This record gives sequence, structure tokens and C-alpha cells, in this order.
Amino acid sequence: MINLLWLQGGACSGNTMSFLNAQQPSFVELVREFDINILWHPSLSPELGDAVQSMLNDCCDEKIPLDVLVFEGTVINGPDGSGRWNRFAGKPMKDWVNDLADVAKYIVAVGDCAAWGGIPATAPNPTDSEGLQYLKKKRGGALGPDFVTRSGLPVINISGCPAHPDWITQVLVAIATGRGNDIGLDELQRPQTFFSTFTQTGCTRNMHFTYKIASTEFAQRKGCLYYDLGCRGPVTRSSCNRILWNRHSSKTRAGMPCIGCTEPEFPFYELAPGTVFKSQTEMGFPKDLPEGIDKMGYMRLTAAAKIAAPEWAEEDIFLI
Ligand code: SF4
Ligand code: SF4
Repeated sequence: MINLLWLQGGACSGNTMSFLNAQQPSFVELVREFDINILWHPSLSPELGDAVQSMLNDCCDEKIPLDVLVFEGTVINGPDGSGRWNRFAGKPMKDWVNDLADVAKYIVAVGDCAAWGGIPATAPNPTDSEGLQYLKKKRGGALGPDFVTRSGLPVINISGCPAHPDWITQVLVAIATGRGNDIGLDELQRPQTFFSTFTQTGCTRNMHFTYKIASTEFAQRKGCLYYDLGCRGPVTRSSCNRILWNRHSSKTRAGMPCIGCTEPEFPFYELAPGTVFKSQTEMGFPKDLPEGIDKMGYMRLTAAAKIAAPEWAEEDIFLI
């Protein structure tokens, strides 16, 4: 059996909601079949007040072994570095994070906020939020750039807004079955299994990408969402089209462009006071080219592909 503690900082609970919808394995299977003992979870556990504080202190004192600390949401430092805007069980949450990080065998950051600060840490970042080991793309965060857990691994970042439920449960299964240190991480500390390929891999609209046939509106049954709607599938690392959401669909299958929610730059725009929201096209989102593409060569290819597009490339695709 392993002990898992789930804490929440500056968060909307979206990753908890996602986690509870996991199917392979489900939350119940994690507990029953993989013997994961949930010490406490903010949405699932009945204990409050002194009982929670006492359990947290027992973890810090190593009276209760802490195998996995899962953190959802940002670490809030405001006001003035005190962390008082997010007090929990008698002290700032940022202090619990630091104390528990000293004794946790593994730490898993679920969602963008815990990984890199996400939406709360976007300028002007009024709560002085940051992720556990990153602030946006900059390494450091609440625990510092050189932090490693007792297992020797840094924080495992399962990014996304929210993270896909099966990405979370499969990482927990790896830890529960003694394979935690086999989780290969990419340069942003994300599990390679889920983040080594682009969102475009497995997208049903790839033939439309190739022939430069554009979707001009959301939910259209044909066309690639890159050209007019700014899909970031070719520049975003995620397995959304390999491991489908609800085992059924994905944003691009439903006709909604990928907005790159697994990357540290998300949500891309800086919400300075007085900012008027602009559409993606006005902001020039589709200008990003896939990695390693020569711009001039790409433009020539585009012209040739449009001319060469066969009639079937104009047909509706079957959407699931
Ligand atoms: S819809 Fe997006 S992910 Fe799919 S082929 Fe077009 S650009 Fe790539
Ligand atoms: S398709 Fe893109 S925006 Fe949607 S969940 Fe996947 S990575 Fe995030």
C-alpha cells in the first residue's frame, strides 16, 4: 500500500473533476486494485480542522510515510511573500508545500497551475502565484530549480488545463507498482509517454492539414483548424488524439482548435489591466509554424498542396 496526499492551492478544482472521470484505471480501481491509500483529498475527504492539521503534522514528522504528494493549483505567495492569501490548516499553504516536499517520496503536479502557474500566474499575477518548479517557462518555482524528491526525481509535471484523467491515474499506477523511477520525463519534467508527440498525432484532420483545406467555423465537419482558427496542434505536446477524452473524442475531432493548454506559455496572452480580448486570428495565432519548418519552403508547399488537393479532401469527415 502507498499513501497519497492531495492538496490544493490556487485552483478551480478542474483537475480534481478531471481525475474523478478517469477510466483506465478509474479512481475506485486506484484505491481497490492498486492499493493507494488516500490520506486526504480536499473534495473527497470528510476530515476537517484539527484532524487534517494533525495528519499533516504526522506526515511532516514522518510518523505517516508520505509516498506521493499530489498538488493541484498554484503556490500563492501574496501578499508580500507571506502566503497569507492561501492559509490552510493553521499556516500558509506554501509552508505546507515546503515542509511536505522534504518528506515526500514522489511529488506530482497536476494541471498547468501546479506545473507552471497557469492562468493565475499570468501577468499581472495579482496573487504572486507560481508552479511547484516552474514559473511559466522559467525553472525555479516554489521548490527551486534543483529540488528533487526522496526518490531522486524532480516534480513530475502532468500539465493541461485540466490534465487528462488517464495521464494522472497512469502515473499514479506506475508509482504504486514500484515503477515510479521508470517514468521518463521530458525537458519540462512531463512524462514522455504522454507528452513526446504533438497533439496533431492521431488527429482525424491531418489530411486536411496536408492539403491546406481550412475549417472556417467551429464544429465544421471538414477542414483543418490550423489555417483560419489557429489550432496549435502542430506546436503543442500532448496525447489528446492518441488517448481520447472520455475514451471518445478530442477537441479537434469536435471541431475546436487545440489552444495549447499543456505548454507553459498557456494562455499565451498577458492580461494586463485594461486589456481588451482579441480573437485568436487577430492575435496572429496561426502564424506559428510547426517545429523545424522552413517558412519559404512551407509557403511553396502550401500553394502546391492547394492545387493538388483531391476532391475527397473536400468531403466531410466522420466525427466521433
Ligand atoms: S486540426 Fe489541428 S491538430 Fe488537427 S491536423 Fe489541423 S492543425 Fe493539426
Ligand atoms: S487538444 Fe490541446 S487544448 Fe485541448 S486538451 Fe489537448 S493540449 Fe489542451
